[in-house]
Amino acid sequence: MKYIDDRGFVWVDGIGGWDIQMLIGQNMVVWGRSGPVNGVIARKAIHLLSPEDRKKVPEMKDLWIDLGVKDREQALQLVAVGDPVTFELGFRPLQNNLAAAPGMDNKVGAWVVLEALRQVAAEAPQAAVFAVSTVQEEIGLRGAQTSAFAIDPQLGIAVDVTHATDCPTLDLKQYGEVDLGDGPVLPRGPNANPEVHARLVSLAQQAEIPVQMAALPRAASNDANALQLTRGGVATGIVAIPNRYMHSPVEVVSLNDLENAARLIARFCLSLTPECDFTPR
Ligand SMILES: [Zn+2]
Repeated sequence: MKYIDDRGFVWVDGIGGWDIQMLIGQNMVVWGRSGPVNGVIARKAIHLLSPEDRKKVPEMKDLWIDLGVKDREQALQLVAVGDPVTFELGFRPLQNNLAAAPGMDNKVGAWVVLEALRQVAAEAPQAAVFAVSTVQEEIGLRGAQTSAFAIDPQLGIAVDVTHATDCPTLDLKQYGEVDLGDGPVLPRGPNANPEVHARLVSLAQQAEIPVQMAALPRAASNDANALQLTRGGVATGIVAIPNRYMHSPVEVVSLNDLENAARLIARFCLSLTPECDFTPR
């Protein structure tokens, strides 16, 4: 949140990447020092938009948050410049064990790694296993850099969402084929250690966990990138959760994919022995 005008309307800038058209008409929450403050983000009503305005894609500066306050003074009793703003949080089950919520990217990652850790803790792992919920991934993989440096792992698996391409208007020739509910995605490419990838694939086959393949020809735009480049290099794997409508208030995932990702990562951790060598051959 960056500016409050005399009438108490609030202007914001995006943290990470946002499609402005997904914002208009949403319930928002400003996370003020003394607690959450409800607001709505909107622009003027369609009746009042000129024919040219109706055709234009608005910019962030064309939208404001209305807290219902009467002036700037009242707003400043509740919120301050720099307070973060989110969509109103919530969770809606859909058919076929799908679910919609804002911020599935990347709350699902936190759930998957903690569930994997829970499963590993119930067995007798030979490797030291750490689960990390990193912060500030969207603005430069910042939490991954510090946590990977501190833990100094030999191997790391980054869990993030990836685009499901099983909804209208997506060209599979351009984006590949990823379906919700068909299992976590195991991308191959320069950011994924080939031995780690091969082990994930074979463990998935053994345990009959469905997985999907994807090609990632460049550095991953997620924590895998920071992880791989930590210190002298870390053998890095990527387990990705298919997600429709990423960075919107209605991100959709399959809960089955989350369960399967956690099971696969737990099995991976339990398969590690001191003899394991992930030097690519
Ligand atoms: Zn994201």
